[in-house]
Amino acid sequence: MTQSTAPRRVAYDTDEFMPAPVELPDDTVPRETTELPAPDSTRVIVIANQKGGVGKTTTAVNLAAGLAAGGLTVLVIDLDPQGNASTALGVDHESGVTGTYEVLIDGEPIERHVQSSPEAESLWVLPATIDLAGAEIALVDVPGRESKLKRAIERLIARHRIDYLFIDCPPSLGLLTLNALVAAQELLVPIQCEYYALEGISQLLRTIDLVKGSMNDRLRLSTIVLTMFDARTRLSAQVANEVRTHFPTETLATAIPRSVRVSEAPSYGQTVITYHRASAGAQAYLTAAGEIARRGATKGQ
Ligand code: ATP
Ligand code: MG
Repeated sequence: MTQSTAPRRVAYDTDEFMPAPVELPDDTVPRETTELPAPDSTRVIVIANQKGGVGKTTTAVNLAAGLAAGGLTVLVIDLDPQGNASTALGVDHESGVTGTYEVLIDGEPIERHVQSSPEAESLWVLPATIDLAGAEIALVDVPGRESKLKRAIERLIARHRIDYLFIDCPPSLGLLTLNALVAAQELLVPIQCEYYALEGISQLLRTIDLVKGSMNDRLRLSTIVLTMFDARTRLSAQVANEVRTHFPTETLATAIPRSVRVSEAPSYGQTVITYHRASAGAQAYLTAAGEIARRGATKGQ
């Protein structure tokens, strides 16, 4: 393990830590027909909820795998120092591996640090290591600190054809999440079907309004995903009803059931889509991915 006291560059100047170069799809190559409809341009979707453990990462990786299984090109940016999305998508992210940190702090291009996920041919990951925990502090004195990710994404999608770009956020509304909110067009909020589910959502919405008013006019809450739905409990149904009442158009028809397979998959470095495709959880995420793709395709028609 590389200690954080060592010069950062040393780690990735050696071949040992350099991920194999990857070829993101070129914008000029005609695409093959895909099972799911492709959006006209890249949909940049931030997955955020400052409440911890509500299913942000699980939703990010499984929707990404579901869309990639439908033939679309998907990039997941892991913006959480915990690196859970990198783990679930089976890519290296031990300390010393390069990724989101270098993009945010050193202004490096995303394509230099993405890794191909073994989950699907068209699925890519910009991994996060624990070093990212220092990024909030390292960014404080940097001019334009809240738009670092936005600029990197703009440069990436000008050159590569990516259909969906998901940003998995940490459970806070700090500078990392702010970078994601400034970079994205859409906000996807996972809401766990539990008591207190809606607490904190109003704070999240106030933050969105602030970002919209000052830093990113395009941002809109496009999607709410109900997670860990337990059909046996009245509480789950009550929470689901309440969320649908507040957000009738944003909430997906598909609720993700609480399922052991979903929670087991990351320990195999997999999404539930490849770990146990026939399971209820995998089927729900595949259906949810289809809903998102079709909504995007009909937008503006
Ligand atoms: P954090 O705020 O720490 O980033 P998170 O919002 O990303 O957390 P997850 O890590 O996706 O949340 O999920 C929290 C826990 O709940 C994990 O252990 C995950 O495996 C489990 N989990 C998520 N969705 C389901 C589900 N549908 N069924 C069962 N367990 C689930
Ligand atoms: Mg997470």
